[in-house]
Amino acid sequence: MEAEITKGHFIESIIKEDIKNNKNKGSVVTRFPPEPNGYLHIGHAKSICLNFKMAHKFNGKCNLRFDDSNPTKEKQIYIDSIKSTVNWLGFEFGTALFASGYFDQLHEFAVDLIKKGKAYVCSLGADDIREYRGTLTEPGKDSPYRERSIEENLDLFARMKKGEFDEGEHTLRAKIDMTSPNINLRDPIIYRVKKAVHPRTGNQWCIYPMYDFTHCLSDALEGVTHSLCSLEFEDHRPLYDWTLDALETPCHPQQIEFARMNINYTILSKRKLQRLVEENHVHGWDDPRLPTLEGMKRRGYTPESIRNFCNIIGVSKKDSRIDMGLLESCLRNDLNEKAPRVMGVLNPLKITTEYYPDGRIEELTAKNHPQKEEMGTRMITFSKEIYVEQDDFMEDPPKKFFRLGPGREVRLRYAYLITCKDVIKDESGTVTELICTYDPATRGGNAPDGRKVKGTIHWVNATDCSDAKVRLYDRLFKDEDPEQGKQDFIENLNPDSLKELESCKLEKSLANATPETVYQFERLGYFCLDSKDATKNNPIFNRTVTMRDAWAKLKKR
Ligand code: ATP
Ligand code: MG
Repeated sequence: MEAEITKGHFIESIIKEDIKNNKNKGSVVTRFPPEPNGYLHIGHAKSICLNFKMAHKFNGKCNLRFDDSNPTKEKQIYIDSIKSTVNWLGFEFGTALFASGYFDQLHEFAVDLIKKGKAYVCSLGADDIREYRGTLTEPGKDSPYRERSIEENLDLFARMKKGEFDEGEHTLRAKIDMTSPNINLRDPIIYRVKKAVHPRTGNQWCIYPMYDFTHCLSDALEGVTHSLCSLEFEDHRPLYDWTLDALETPCHPQQIEFARMNINYTILSKRKLQRLVEENHVHGWDDPRLPTLEGMKRRGYTPESIRNFCNIIGVSKKDSRIDMGLLESCLRNDLNEKAPRVMGVLNPLKITTEYYPDGRIEELTAKNHPQKEEMGTRMITFSKEIYVEQDDFMEDPPKKFFRLGPGREVRLRYAYLITCKDVIKDESGTVTELICTYDPATRGGNAPDGRKVKGTIHWVNATDCSDAKVRLYDRLFKDEDPEQGKQDFIENLNPDSLKELESCKLEKSLANATPETVYQFERLGYFCLDSKDATKNNPIFNRTVTMRDAWAKLKKR
């Protein structure tokens, strides 16, 4: 069940106050504005949930707008992935919008700024521009081209547009204040020459607007009322407001910043995730170890669990690092409700049941969910040979180990009580097989004489189970903060973040598994069929998340 925010956050309070004061005639329009230069990660989910939920809560709308003004970094595959990911998360955006759809209007705005004497064509090279800009402690100085006449600026800008100049020869800059303590206001570049093919506008343009110019004006053109963004844009807000004021746009959205999401043991930055992919530290953008939403989907995360997580962590102005355990517990809570139960054995140990008739195969009823009758039952089979988990046997078990050991009796889930009579080992002393007896009177798992058997273990029938590989994932990084001590985060990668088990045994019903269903393998955790590498003849399952392991806790004490 998705928790509802009962206590509103500061952005919600601002919006409520605005509605009360009839600001924007009481309407609420938000937007989620990704640059299509990579895949979305769970940090983006925070922004998506916030923007869509605020719009929904106050009967407004939320646009999905691609901030696609840098053609050299943007690709159609990213656009497609982002759209389907937003839908997968559970949000409807109607038709996607694109900043590139406003290129004509943005160009007109730029011409307008020139006409108002608030922008000029600068012919300094990149290095000079940097030098003239000054530093955090020193003011900048005016470009020698700052006082060009409006006519000359209009002419040069028109020729930039026609393609007469090479990249870097001229830029269009806003004329603000080279001595401002805020570097963003030191005559920022608003247009540059870029002879690149754009994924949507093709060859139509050879000048492209910069992010800061594009973003605020796209917001204004869309009638956005509340422009919600992460804290790194706080210093850009004066430029956001300056641009809209200078152009006297009828709509002036309010930019409000909130803290980015950070989670321990992982990184949430597109640029850094890209490095992991490009240097092959992980296998692609949808590697289930990554915090990308495509990776998390492949791993078995549900949209509900991610939305619920975003709800719980809330929205604030303060940066913090959230415990991965919280995300995992949101996932477990959701899957505990929904996941059908099945049995699978990851590290098989064979049991031969003495006295059970050779060749007999018996059908037993198993529940698909222990509490939810409506999820129904299924048939599982039992025969003389079964597999159990190696960990469920100890040759010399302590008292509290309620599983198999020599002479100990245990319940096979939904089947019989069995007692371990003999242990077979290979030359090296490794246990290879157990010989057990079974009590025919305990079919279904209960002893008619009422004797107590504390332990219940999972198992599969050796005669009809399927072989599968299972991928176990651990944290991607060894340290809570992968950039601890400012070292290269690559050095902090956990070398054991992926472990593949080659010969797992799964109950027959899993032969029909699809990647969309996450199962609980009883006692082990949650698993789903891998959507990329699995085939009919080579099933591969991902471990989505473990169960809380009571025995591991006990051992630690
Ligand atoms: P990079 O990590 O490379 O800087 P980005 O993730 O910031 O890229 P965008 O695609 O521009 O890149 O982000 C789209 C929106 O998502 C922005 O409004 C941004 O503020 C928000 N966003 C991005 N990362 C987070 C995060 N970790 N937490 C909350 N919001 C985020
Ligand atoms: Mg960014």
